[in-house]
Amino acid sequence: MTPPFYPYDHDLSGLIACPRCDVLHRSEELADGQRAKCTRCGTVLMWPRKNAFLHVVSLSFTGMILMIGAIFFPFLEISTRGLSHESSIFGVAMAFSDGFLAPLAFAVLTMIVALPIFRFVALIYTLWPLANGRPAYRHAATTFRLVQELQPWAMAEIFIIGTAVALVKIGGLATVSLGPAFWAFCVLIIVIALKNSFVSDWTIWNAIGRK
Ligand SMILES: [Zn+2]
Repeated sequence: MTPPFYPYDHDLSGLIACPRCDVLHRSEELADGQRAKCTRCGTVLMWPRKNAFLHVVSLSFTGMILMIGAIFFPFLEISTRGLSHESSIFGVAMAFSDGFLAPLAFAVLTMIVALPIFRFVALIYTLWPLANGRPAYRHAATTFRLVQELQPWAMAEIFIIGTAVALVKIGGLATVSLGPAFWAFCVLIIVIALKNSFVSDWTIWNAIGRK
């Protein structure tokens, strides 16, 4: 990694921008396990690891299974004064499906469920051939661009944090039992964090371009 990048240098090939502070660096081949960090803020820019793509594919597959399970298994059960009510994520979204709140049901299902699942599938489509040393599939670049552009709209993690905050309040009024779908969502957050830390976007773009 050669810092810094001077504006009078017109060769733009092999440049890598820090995702946090935008400083440009010139990339270099790294051995497995070596890290390249931003010279200004210390963000890890490249960290090639053996079988990193295969790990991301497996984590995406795990995330997809967890998400599909989380849709239909009970999310939580609230009971008070002998009355109890159990609900799944799908049931919660469908509760808003009538009347003027229908767009809310659509937004919940899209941002919490559909987009995260789509991103997992798209990542598997992009990385599976690369993990096996084969050329990228057709439209891999378009698919991975979609994965990146949809990231701000996939809100599974935000949903579970919001739910946890709400449960603290509800806990004072009724007995709340957490179902398997709640724990699946918690594991899902860890899986997503691991997946994001395994390989940088730059490495994936580089591999798509090379193959
Ligand atoms: Zn930086």
